[in-house]
Amino acid sequence: MPETQDTWKRCVEFHGHTCPGLAIGYRAALAAQERLQAQFSPDEEMVCVTENDACGVDAIQVLTGCSIGKGNLIYRDTGKQAFSFYSRKDGRKIRVMFKMQGNGHNQADRVTFQEQILNAPDEDLFDFTEPEDLPPSKARIFTSIVCEECGEAAPEHKIRLNQGKKLCLGCFPDYSRGW
Ligand SMILES: [Zn+2]
Ligand SMILES: [Zn+2]
Repeated sequence: MPETQDTWKRCVEFHGHTCPGLAIGYRAALAAQERLQAQFSPDEEMVCVTENDACGVDAIQVLTGCSIGKGNLIYRDTGKQAFSFYSRKDGRKIRVMFKMQGNGHNQADRVTFQEQILNAPDEDLFDFTEPEDLPPSKARIFTSIVCEECGEAAPEHKIRLNQGKKLCLGCFPDYSRGW
């Protein structure tokens, strides 16, 4: 299908190379859009919660319009090859979990794996479930606070207090001790 080749090409152009990971995101986005009867989101019509920050997320952004910049792509790091999609319009939602195993790390294996992913039926690639939670709330605009150390402004929910001074995260002395 020429149209399919074109959408894949657009993902590769954005991502920079072809790889099995990009193919996972490509197929996940198409499968979710078909099941939610959703199209590309010019605004925040659709929200994606991605559970990884790997190659596939780039295809999700190109095809669904869920992006960091618009606030409708949310990164919830479990490290899994899973993506949940929520349609704000009609409340439909779906979680897409990639279930195929790769069979090696040399280049020939990767090319074969990528072709498998691009051509397999949806059901061989993914488990589909309905997430129980609601879509994350819409992106908000916060009041800006000027950091008393560096003088740069940051939204108030990113400001910390240190000995009574309002500090940005760049100036706040970290006390996370690994957490
Ligand atoms: Zn890649
Ligand atoms: Zn600062």
